Amino acid sequence: MEVAIKDELPTFSGGLGVLAGDYLKSTADLHLPIVAVTLCYAKGYFRQQIGADGAQVELPVEWSPDHLLERVGAVVPLQLGGREVAIGAWRYLLRGVSGGEVPIYFLDTNLEDNHPEDRLITDQLYRGDGEHRLRQEAVLGLGGVAMLERLGHRGLGTFHMNEGHSALLTLALLNREVGSHEVAAGPSATMAVREHCVFTTHTPVEAGHDRFSRDVVNAVLAPAIIDRIEELDLLDDDELNMSELGLRLSRYANGVSRRHGAVAQQMFPNVPISAITNGVHLSTWAAPSTVALFDNYLPGWRHDSAMLRYASGIPLDELAAAHGTAKARLLREVAHRSGEQLSEQALTIGLARRATRYKQIGLIFSDLDRLRRIAKDSGPLQILCAGKAHPDDADGKELLKMLVAAKRELGSEVPLVLLENYDLGLAGLLCSGSDLWLNTPAPPNEASGTSGMKAALNGVPSMSVLDGWWIEGCIEGVTGWAIGEDAEAFTAPPSQIQATLPPAVAPEGSAERAEALYRKLGEVVLPRFYRDRDGYHTVMRNAITLNGSFFSTDRMAREYALNAYRWRRLPDR
Ligand SMILES: *Cc1c(COP(=O)(O)O)cnc(C)c1O
Repeated sequence: MEVAIKDELPTFSGGLGVLAGDYLKSTADLHLPIVAVTLCYAKGYFRQQIGADGAQVELPVEWSPDHLLERVGAVVPLQLGGREVAIGAWRYLLRGVSGGEVPIYFLDTNLEDNHPEDRLITDQLYRGDGEHRLRQEAVLGLGGVAMLERLGHRGLGTFHMNEGHSALLTLALLNREVGSHEVAAGPSATMAVREHCVFTTHTPVEAGHDRFSRDVVNAVLAPAIIDRIEELDLLDDDELNMSELGLRLSRYANGVSRRHGAVAQQMFPNVPISAITNGVHLSTWAAPSTVALFDNYLPGWRHDSAMLRYASGIPLDELAAAHGTAKARLLREVAHRSGEQLSEQALTIGLARRATRYKQIGLIFSDLDRLRRIAKDSGPLQILCAGKAHPDDADGKELLKMLVAAKRELGSEVPLVLLENYDLGLAGLLCSGSDLWLNTPAPPNEASGTSGMKAALNGVPSMSVLDGWWIEGCIEGVTGWAIGEDAEAFTAPPSQIQATLPPAVAPEGSAERAEALYRKLGEVVLPRFYRDRDGYHTVMRNAITLNGSFFSTDRMAREYALNAYRWRRLPDR
């Protein structure tokens, strides 16, 4: 549904799109033979402004695809809501570090021949009602298969569904199978489709799994597609579950971290689900001063993240100097945007993510007196926040207001700056220029999280609840710090991650997590930062050596190529 390549191409909302963009950049770096399909939203997602009281203002994004994308001539028809809709495509050619190329097709319905209503199908990302959303997903899944064929991309070995949004593609493949062999859509046709499909699920959060009612399905999809859905018995409970559809028709499925794989296996017990842990694209997220450092010490790091393992030989003072440059760059931009001049000496906490309930970005502000006391007793700290709330998410919008209220109360004792319009550029500045990356979601809802990985490769350690990737990335006091009852845990072996699986519903009450956060910050992190500089810089270097080297889309793309895309014969069943 979204791919984030750069801010000028605003067809993304957050982590899911950033992951897809980073991943595709790495497949281009690695010369993997891949083409990608997503949608081209005429008004993007939205541009965020935050009022003085914290109220979020959502503005349409003004942009035009002509400057960045190339219109391809091909148009494919799709039967939608009783009308024929023409689907067009824009092409973006992603170039890797050594000449590899991955084309991305951005589909849209904004064509003159279409009915005015149909031109708006690809208007905005994640907005509108169920029918609108299903129309978009039909354009992506059904239109995507047709467009690839039309453009001459035949004989594709594997269709990788990145979340359920594109799962209708399985039904296009099924129809093609039935049509070409003139057989009924029975088990053998289904098996043939499964051999070509791979599915990745990205979140345990309910809202991430689209379900469409029978009425919506009947109103939007063509009879030939509805027949397939009926034959497969996919409308149990009178709902079409897109994740179930994708999983049923895939030969391989995975979650996006070890724990999330286990959580997803509980959610979908009928198919085996493995895990491939997410990563980030190193050269996208390395700050200029990090790039200079790596170029000097780690030749070849751009297309081989294992090189970062040798960062252990980088002198601490050079690492500290590179980080100082990134921090100064961040604080200059903060001053430019907000007019507030923060200290280059004070411990700077970065706290940026989507403003949504499970992310619990407010945890560190749950006891402001305590926070003030910690800053007074253990050393000055300042906090930088950013994040968009989904336009329909009242809870998320309340969070932004809470941040503004906290800022007012904390005043100059703990300076807090709330930055508008969290995007790739701002994420790059924050993840490299902060001294500590904070993450406090309610487990086990964070499937992976990737911003902490962007921080790690820049030598910025995380302090985080043990959830998602941090279960694999945290070595206490070595790569960063854990918050919570498992705080002394070392990187857990995958077998133990399965054994300590939490309930699928987030535990209520975060008072204990807040307590653990305050204690770790005041008693461990701030003393290390102010009284043991070499100790803190060593943790920074370990973040690069142990986590930057592993949590990359370079490593991740190799895992998908070897474990997911490799054609395997299915066991007889
Ligand atoms: C990396 C990134 C995200 C995802 O970060 P999480 O750690 O998963 O919250 C979201 N938005 C932007 C703009 C990003 O760059």
